[in-house]
Amino acid sequence: MAQLQNGKSKSQLNIAVVGGGLVGSLEALYLAKRGHQVHLYEYREDIQKTPQARGRSINLALSLRGRTALKDVGLEDLMINQHGIPMRARMIHRTDGSTYAIPYDSRTNQCIYSVGRNYLNAQLLRESEKYENVQRYFNHKLVEANLRKGSLTFQKPDKETVHVTADLILGADGAFSAVRRSMMKQPLFDYSQKYIEHGYMELCIPADNNGGFQMPPNYLHIWPRGNFMMIALPNQDCSWTVTLFMPFYHFKNLDNEEKLLAFFQEYFPDSIPLLGKENLVADFFAGSPSALVAVKMRDLVTRPSYRLRKAVDDFIFWLLPDFWVPLYNSVTFTTMPYSQCVKNRKWQDRGRNY
Ligand SMILES: Cc1cc2nc3c(=O)[nH]c(=O)nc-3n(C[C@H](O)[C@H](O)[C@H](O)COP(=O)(O)OP(=O)(O)OC[C@H]3O[C@@H](n4cnc5c(N)ncnc54)[C@H](O)[C@@H]3O)c2cc1C
Repeated sequence: MAQLQNGKSKSQLNIAVVGGGLVGSLEALYLAKRGHQVHLYEYREDIQKTPQARGRSINLALSLRGRTALKDVGLEDLMINQHGIPMRARMIHRTDGSTYAIPYDSRTNQCIYSVGRNYLNAQLLRESEKYENVQRYFNHKLVEANLRKGSLTFQKPDKETVHVTADLILGADGAFSAVRRSMMKQPLFDYSQKYIEHGYMELCIPADNNGGFQMPPNYLHIWPRGNFMMIALPNQDCSWTVTLFMPFYHFKNLDNEEKLLAFFQEYFPDSIPLLGKENLVADFFAGSPSALVAVKMRDLVTRPSYRLRKAVDDFIFWLLPDFWVPLYNSVTFTTMPYSQCVKNRKWQDRGRNY
């Protein structure tokens, strides 16, 4: 029995989920399974009808937490065993082109999976079609919300507006959430947002001439270079989504083809034949880098201190698997609450300093 803001109780709520991305479409399934009446509103058109739609990063790494969430809505097998590409280790690329692997979990051989973002989103939305208590509304952009009254106003592409009310409103409309914007109008609601100095840009390593992978596929490839880096995740069509993260001023400095190629020659020389010079130049100058909000990145993997720490962590983990779970393993391969992962790390740090 759910308790409403007005004090009344209701077993079946009329719930509006704003945003049909990964979180909104998954949340809609969980709420539907509990028997609630769910209305899912999405700004874009139905992604199932536009499989090539390019949104943010076209693939993503799925860990045990994501798998667990998918399992409960019956999609784990499809996403992991039929679609996902296992990535068992990081493959580090040095500037001289040599590589070495750092396994994610040398003790129990767990791995993360590269999955198509749009594919995952489409499967979640398709699954929701099976529930009579889920109504989906595409091309509905939230433009106004009164959270106290539980009312929402959406605008359709033809500018027609739609007003609805709900017992519960869930904002799953991404980093620049309109739901959050309306929360900010409430008295005593504090909010802070921080852009980091890094932006990111996506490039692509295509499949080889035989339609196969140009690099060993079961790795997350990383080119760590101090305060910037490049990563590549394998796609199901044997191409790679390559993401270059670096400060905006670096992007700005690379303002012509010559500078771009010299930069890649200095820092990522082995990637040039894989990306293809022409494709690299075309992709780089086709768009501008995207911003990242409050995400922190650190290039730790190349530091000797990181590798020493990892070796010590892995050894104690092997010796005492139920007692000492390293931070990366607890975040990626357990469903332990994040607060507990952080607590563990603190006492492990204290222990190591004695
Ligand atoms: C470069 C990059 C790489 C990443 N890689 C990974 C990774 O490997 N693994 C991982 O787990 N996570 C990764 N993430 C994080 C992941 O993308 C987010 O955690 C995830 O997308 C959040 O999902 P969401 O549904 O909350 O938001 P989104 O995916 O942004 O979805 C929001 C939805 O709301 C809709 N919407 C927006 N405004 C409105 C409105 N006004 N009205 C109605 N609908 C609206 C949008 O159209 C969209 O469909 C990455 C993020 C970035 C930027």
